[in-house]
Amino acid sequence: MSRPFQQVPHLAAIRPESLVAEGVRGLILDLDNTLLGFGASAPSPENRAWVAAARAAGLEIVLLSNNFGPRVAEIAAPLGLHGIPNALKPLPLGFLRAKRALGMRAREVAVIGDQLFTDVLGATLCGMRAILVEPIEDRDFPLTRLFRRIERLVLPERRV
Ligand SMILES: [Mg+2]
Repeated sequence: MSRPFQQVPHLAAIRPESLVAEGVRGLILDLDNTLLGFGASAPSPENRAWVAAARAAGLEIVLLSNNFGPRVAEIAAPLGLHGIPNALKPLPLGFLRAKRALGMRAREVAVIGDQLFTDVLGATLCGMRAILVEPIEDRDFPLTRLFRRIERLVLPERRV
């Protein structure tokens, strides 16, 4: 049985042009361990280049994070992106706020994140497609580390 979401190793493995060809116009992008490492203060040059390529391909991007306002603003502002903190993913409210910010229908939006029980679950609850990336690093919130142990039971092929 094929899973209802895509799994890729990292952002750079996602081809923005392919998403556009499939009707995607907007991205809801997770922050920690998707766009940059949990302790990092800026995305890698590769991921910054990917964000630029995605926008050049016509995709609008909103950052959606369970992390706090100052951290999300610190990452979003230099990239010129709208960031929504304290999202309480997987609850739908944050995803719906992000969708409203994009001004798009659920089927035009793809959610990209590193966690099954926040990013993928929330996307699915809201009728959006989801793309699961491998977490950039092992460090994360204690609750997230607990979720990762459960993820490994569901997705044994995950590395981290
Ligand atoms: Mg994350």
